[in-house]
Amino acid sequence: MTHNAHLEQTIVAPIEFAGVGLHSGAPVTLRLLPAPAGSGIVFRRTDLENYEISATARNVAKVSYATSLMRQGVLISTTEHLLSALVGMGVDNVIAELDNLEMPILDGSALPYVEAFLRVGIRTQRRRRETVRILRPVEVRDGNKFIGVYPGSGYSIRYTINFPAPIGYQTACVDLAADTYGKTIAPARTFGYKDDEKKLRDMGLIRGASPECTIVLTPEGPENGPLRFPDEYVRHKILDLIGDLALAGRRIEGHVVAERAGHAMHTALVSRLLKDRSAWEFAHIPIEDESSEEMMSSTTNSEVGSPALMSI
Ligand SMILES: [Zn+2]
Repeated sequence: MTHNAHLEQTIVAPIEFAGVGLHSGAPVTLRLLPAPAGSGIVFRRTDLENYEISATARNVAKVSYATSLMRQGVLISTTEHLLSALVGMGVDNVIAELDNLEMPILDGSALPYVEAFLRVGIRTQRRRRETVRILRPVEVRDGNKFIGVYPGSGYSIRYTINFPAPIGYQTACVDLAADTYGKTIAPARTFGYKDDEKKLRDMGLIRGASPECTIVLTPEGPENGPLRFPDEYVRHKILDLIGDLALAGRRIEGHVVAERAGHAMHTALVSRLLKDRSAWEFAHIPIEDESSEEMMSSTTNSEVGSPALMSI
């Protein structure tokens, strides 16, 4: 996050991507458009009379290999990588127009989005950013899978995975307040086991998969190396988690711990959190721009009490 983390942001100009969906193999053109303050992330199906679905938990569809949104039978599939890039880079308001049912997989990571945001620029808007500030722990457990969210300043994540060889046990932490997303999380790619490939293809689940967008794993190691990080797998799980938690509708302010989780656990946490109204509050990020004392003092004067304690 930048010095103006307390304000909402959008992209400066439209961005276009063309590709195929990982699961459907469907060709798709995606256009990201700047959006007014307060509008959030809205998907728009241009092939279905511009039907709109906002990126919020109430629109989450059946979750298996990816997170999808559905409203009145209209689907937007595999939203997590774009949503992750938007949250990671601090972009609050965007319209995502696509002309098919699934987002393009691109290179399997969020890096193409991040590079495009940086190319066109990200601009600050005149509206205080709201967060979902965690007040009490909320946890979801399913066998040996676990995910929980806890009170804490900023937005940090610790993720642990334990997959068959060659991945094994990996754990990683990221503090999203530290401007690290673009370099440490966004480049981490989707991965899959070669042994599962035939079964998943027969089930029609990976029609768009290719070595250009997925790390293909054999017990000996990645078939299409080199890796971008030695622990690229757990970093990709963090990437996915950030995208799935974006469905809370606001940036999380707290600490997330996930162990052997996946999309279903991620979105279950969002649902449980939003239902438990005593576990969180809407809050504003304190103004931290030390280079602009004038702005700080004037804003502090106009607000009641400490900015850190404000909520609505
Ligand atoms: Zn992913």
